Amino acid sequence: MTAIVMESKPLKEAMWAEASAMVEDRLKSRGGRPCLAVVLVGDDPASATYVKNKHAACRKVGIDTRDFHLPAETSQADLIALVNGLNGESAVNGILVQLPLPKHIDARAVIGCVSPVKDVDCLHPENVGLLFLGTPRFEPCTPGGIMRLLAFYGFSVEGKRVVIIGRSNIVGKPLSALMLRAHATVTLCHSRTRDLPSVAREADILIAAIGKPHFVTADYIHDGAVVVDVGVNQVPDASAKGGKRLIGDVDFDAALPKAAAISPVPGGVGPLTIASLLMNTLRAFDLQTA
Ligand code: NAP
Repeated sequence: MTAIVMESKPLKEAMWAEASAMVEDRLKSRGGRPCLAVVLVGDDPASATYVKNKHAACRKVGIDTRDFHLPAETSQADLIALVNGLNGESAVNGILVQLPLPKHIDARAVIGCVSPVKDVDCLHPENVGLLFLGTPRFEPCTPGGIMRLLAFYGFSVEGKRVVIIGRSNIVGKPLSALMLRAHATVTLCHSRTRDLPSVAREADILIAAIGKPHFVTADYIHDGAVVVDVGVNQVPDASAKGGKRLIGDVDFDAALPKAAAISPVPGGVGPLTIASLLMNTLRAFDLQTA
């Protein structure tokens, strides 16, 4: 068997087209254009790239953006003051504080200050609570992208055994809530899970969100499983442009002959995170202008 490779490009393009059409519709019906404020603190190159890509995607579909790039030494109080100011600006519909924040800033305190109706990353405790109650206000971006990717390739999760490796607040935990809501039977694994390969082998759908290159080998995958690789790991590669390339948490070549389907890295889950952010910004606009 050779797995279906779940490229996200066609889905990403469909989501961008949908977002574009929604922006046009809102311009006509409500006379306004959605706006996302993106706050970046410091000069982490990966964060700067993510922020640049978010601005570019918004521009492409007609969503306005506001760019706040603050120095690394910005105090927590000043950052919270900025967020509070944005909460009060009616022209700003979504607020995204790029993580991670510098160590002297308590990310939870900052996220807790974002107005829940502008929290397009779905990280505010109120939105996380709604998500786990099964009535999400926003879909968390990366987990939402994973659910859409599976649906796009025709894989229903209802009644399936889903094993997620990784319990972060950004991927694993919120994904478990979306999976439960879609009637999957969910096992959430982490660094203290015993005999991880045998737990993973029980999965009809296996999600790897660990942050360790090629951690998931063929031994983790039962024949015919659907594998979603969330990991994004930069590894040295002398033959690649810039001497580095991106690889996932799954050993793709080893998984290919065993899995029924697998998402590639790059070109899998990654682009859907930003596409989900566009949809959430539109949702925030709708919530605020209804
Ligand atoms: P994270 O916060 O570092 O969490 C990693 C998780 O993996 C933790 O729950 C950790 O367990 C678990 N883990 C680590 N080592 C393990 C081991 N040996 N066995 C089992 N579990 C282990 O990472 P994250 O933010 O969720 O990100 C995970 C990966 O996804 C990264 O590569 C990141 O770059 C990528 N990512 C991609 C996107 C995208 O848009 N494509 C978005 C977000 C993240 P403990 O909790 O026990 O420590």
